[in-house]
Parts: sequence; structure tokens; C-alpha cells
Amino acid sequence: MKTYDVAVIGSGLVGLSTAYELAKKGRKVALIDSLGLSAGASSANTSLLLFEGVTRGMIFDLCVESIESYANMAEELGGDVGFETAKMICYIKNEENFAEARRMSDFYVENGFEYDVVDDSTLHKLEPELNMEGMLGALYFTQWKMDPLRVVYAYFTRAREYGMDWYPHNKAIGFRKNNERILGVITEKGTIQAEQYVVATGAWTRELMLTLNIDIPEYYIQGAALVAERGGISLNNVIYQFEPTRVRMEQRSGELAMELGWENIPKLVASEFVILQDSHGNLVSAQSSMVTPEIVNAVPPEFLRDMAANIKLHFPKFGVCKVIRSWICPIPFVPDGKPFFGFVRPYNNLLLASGFASVLIMTPILGKLASSLLEGERISYDLSSFDPCRFEKVV
Ligand SMILES: Cc1cc2nc3c(=O)[nH]c(=O)nc-3n(C[C@H](O)[C@H](O)[C@H](O)COP(=O)(O)OP(=O)(O)OC[C@H]3O[C@@H](n4cnc5c(N)ncnc54)[C@H](O)[C@@H]3O)c2cc1C
Repeated sequence: MKTYDVAVIGSGLVGLSTAYELAKKGRKVALIDSLGLSAGASSANTSLLLFEGVTRGMIFDLCVESIESYANMAEELGGDVGFETAKMICYIKNEENFAEARRMSDFYVENGFEYDVVDDSTLHKLEPELNMEGMLGALYFTQWKMDPLRVVYAYFTRAREYGMDWYPHNKAIGFRKNNERILGVITEKGTIQAEQYVVATGAWTRELMLTLNIDIPEYYIQGAALVAERGGISLNNVIYQFEPTRVRMEQRSGELAMELGWENIPKLVASEFVILQDSHGNLVSAQSSMVTPEIVNAVPPEFLRDMAANIKLHFPKFGVCKVIRSWICPIPFVPDGKPFFGFVRPYNNLLLASGFASVLIMTPILGKLASSLLEGERISYDLSSFDPCRFEKVV
């Protein structure tokens, strides 16, 4: 039986960037997915690379280093990945958020980024068709976007050129192990052996880790989005709202899951507004979301209605909402808002890289860090706050 240096389970952006970095170093890598390439959230997002309000510490430093890598990605991976700057409006509806926005803006400006807090009249000039009812102004800034499918394809193609083996439609269902080592990953089609293993299975991580009797508190919200014909709208910016209710829903569901158990939590729903215009002029809008353990495959009709109504509310001139496509996908999160990134005790050859609610901005740096950890190299970040065992609940 062929033995790999590393088996990476999950071909989302986290698994792919890790597999690519290892293959580039000459390691024999197997990339395994239960479905096709990047079948989870990595090909179902709105493509924004955002600091998401992070204004200090290691996560901010990771984002900044990662953005530098994005700037070189097309050259490194040999193809345009759609990386570009994007003007963003994050609109604000109350004074408290205004004060917070000012603090954020000051921080980012000090660190060399283009940020500003604008009042309602400036906001109107920036986005004349936006219905500003109740809006006091906005955080107005430059950040970035990329094309997730192109990034996925570029990583995959380059990693294959470096010799990576690909195992699609191969669901990992458990592990062979002894006391401190994983000896093989058992898939529906047989066992794959490697010296080291990476679990990068996003929202499905808890299910897989339970096969090792380790209860990782990684849960998911299910986020829906749609693409609609432009309906007469022309946007100058990406627009979204400051402090959406989704963030509070995520926090609340994390608390409930820890208290009642994930399987017992009541269904929660939230609605937020994000809109951008894609390169074809169509509108990409998100997101209605819900927390419930049962994973759904189709967007609930009420979510479609909410998202369409939200576009109309923000842009009264918007005509009939002609939806081109819509989707819903689970997005992982951890109750303390930090990912799991590190070795899973007692297994010294099992690296967990999961629980990233907004991973797009950090994708390149995560692959580099994961490969360094696996190679035993020194890294300049203290990743202890991402320790997968910080909740220590063995069942
Ligand atoms: C509507 C929406 C909008 C979003 N917008 C943004 C945004 O603008 N910016 C941003 O940063 N983030 C956004 N996100 C979140 C972002 O997409 C996720 O943070 C990210 O994709 C997670 O990547 P991942 O590699 O951890 O997991 P995933 O991409 O989910 O990958 C996990 C992979 O593991 C595979 N897998 C699962 N279980 C197994 C198993 N047992 N065996 C083998 N394979 C398995 C899955 O098939 C999947 O391919 C959005 C998400 C959604 C749904």
C-alpha cells in the first residue's frame, strides 16, 4: 500500500492551501474529499477579503501577511485569481456603532490602510441609489476580493503539478490509530496511510473528530446567498451592514450548544445585508442564515423572499427580483470566535485546521503555517490561543 508523507482531509481553501504548500516542498501528499473539489463553503461565498473588525493582535498580523501573499498569488500559481481591491461601504445605524467605527478607522489608518468614517450626505454621494433611511453614515474603506473558484482551481492545478494525489468522493469515516499516532485514515473506499494527517473538513469537523472520541465544539451556521439580475441597479461599492444580527446569533448558538448540546439547540435565524455587483453586472446578495444541526441542501423559500425584499428595501428602484441561482452552505464557527489550528493531543501527527468562519483573507498564510507546523519548523506566531484542545472534552 502506498504511504504518503501527509494526508489532507477536506479540499476547501484551508485543505488546498496546505496541500499545495506541502507538495511544493516535495512532500508526497494525498488530498481527500467526501465530494468533489471544494464542495463546501469555499466555493459558496461572497469572495470578500475582510479584516472583519479585527483591530489588534495575531489575527490582524496574519491577515496582513496573507494579503501580501495574495498580491503574488497569480505569479506563484500561474493564473489570474481575480485578486483586486474593492471599495466597501459598511453602513451604520446607531451612535454606538459610529463610535466603534471611528476607533476601527483610526487603527487601520495608523496601520497604513485606507479607511474613513463618513456622514450621511457623503454616503449619499458615494452610493446615490441606496435608500438611506435610518442610516447615520458609514465606514468607507478599501479592502479586497478574489475569485474563490479561480483560487481553488489554481491551488489544485499547481499542487497536482507538484505530484499531489487526489481522492475525490472518498469520505473519511474514521482513523486507524495506536496510543499517540494516527496510522491511517479510513475512507468509504479504503484506508489511506500517511506519516501525518491534516483535518480541514470545515463544518463537518466535529462529526469526523467524534470518531476519535474527541468532541470538538465546532458548530455551523447555514448561510444562504443568491445571484440576481441587476434589476436596474448600478453599484459603486460593496455594501454591507455594521454588526449584523448574524454575529449575535452565532454567539448565542455557541452558548446554547455548550449548555444544551449541539443536537438539542433550538432553531435560530438571522438576516443581514451584503450586496455586490459581479463582473457580469449581476447582483450577488447575502445572507439569510440559520442555526440548526440538520444540514439543508436547498435555500428555504422564506430566505429567498427575505433576501429579495432586502435588496428592494435598500434599493427601492430595484425591479422584479429575477434570481439566477441561489445556494445555502454550512459555515463553521467555534464558540470563542477563534479557529482550531494545531496538533490534537494525544496524536502528535494529527493537525486540525478548521473552524474558520471567514477564512478567505487568511487562506495563503494558513497553508504556509500548517506546512511549517508539520515540518517542525519554527514559526513567528504564537498560535496557542488556537489550540484544538482548549475546550478539552473527551467523550
Ligand atoms: C453565503 C456565504 C458567504 C460567505 N462569504 C464569505 C466572505 O465574503 N469572506 C469570507 O472570508 N468568508 C465567507 N464565507 C465563509 C467561508 O466560505 C468559509 O470560512 C471557508 O470557505 C471555510 O473553508 P474551509 O476550508 O475551512 O471549509 P470548506 O470550504 O467547507 O471545506 C471543507 C471540505 O471538507 C470536505 N469534507 C467534509 N467532511 C469530510 C470527510 N468526512 N471526508 C472528506 N472530506 C470531507 C467537504 O466536502 C469540503 O470540501 C461565506 C460563506 C457562505 C456560505
